[in-house]
Amino acid sequence: MKHATLAACAALIAFNAMAPAHAATDRTYDKNGYQLVFKDLSKTADQHVVDKLVDTYFVVYPKLAHDFNPKVTHHVTFVIDPAYDGVAATDNARTVFNPQWFVKHPGDTDVVTHEVMHIVQDYGHKDTPGWLVEGIADYVRYKYGLNNAAAKWALPDYKPTQKVTDAYRVTARFLAWLEAHGHAGIVVKLDAQLRDGTYTDASWTALAGKPVDALWADYAASPAL
Ligand SMILES: [Zn+2]
Repeated sequence: MKHATLAACAALIAFNAMAPAHAATDRTYDKNGYQLVFKDLSKTADQHVVDKLVDTYFVVYPKLAHDFNPKVTHHVTFVIDPAYDGVAATDNARTVFNPQWFVKHPGDTDVVTHEVMHIVQDYGHKDTPGWLVEGIADYVRYKYGLNNAAAKWALPDYKPTQKVTDAYRVTARFLAWLEAHGHAGIVVKLDAQLRDGTYTDASWTALAGKPVDALWADYAASPAL
């Protein structure tokens, strides 16, 4: 990972050296003790979309820091990178976005809400279950997102083919169901355990009274939120 990071930095320096005329697409925003460094390597991002991504950061990230991890960094970098072909990815308080995604889905700005939750999670290199990491990030998008309805982003209805380990929105809906059915605050507790390394399969029984498979069975039997 270190080699990849160094190579990426070297490429970025070379790219900037060749294109100084576009430096205006890099901007640092500061507000209420939080900072966002924004770089548009595509040089083509719609300013309206950029403004929405920046606004979402400054509204949502401080709330997530407050509610989940007050020690998290206040310095975050967003990079719009045409060389990245996923939707978005986050590592080391740096989120990379695919500009094409926002050409096709300009309202999907709560991608920021999901991604900055990964910064707040800060689980490091612990052996955390990916399905739960992504389920928590989508639960947070569901609860804290600013533009989900307009973007037609919603939690999917329960279906018998689903499993708790499906991750993303499927797991997020299960977490929302637990929060609404006698286990308010469980997501904050799971997140804290994942961060301090105390999360195990037994956490579900300790926090909600049953193993996760039994909780999922209860959910499947009566999945209304
Ligand atoms: Zn994610």
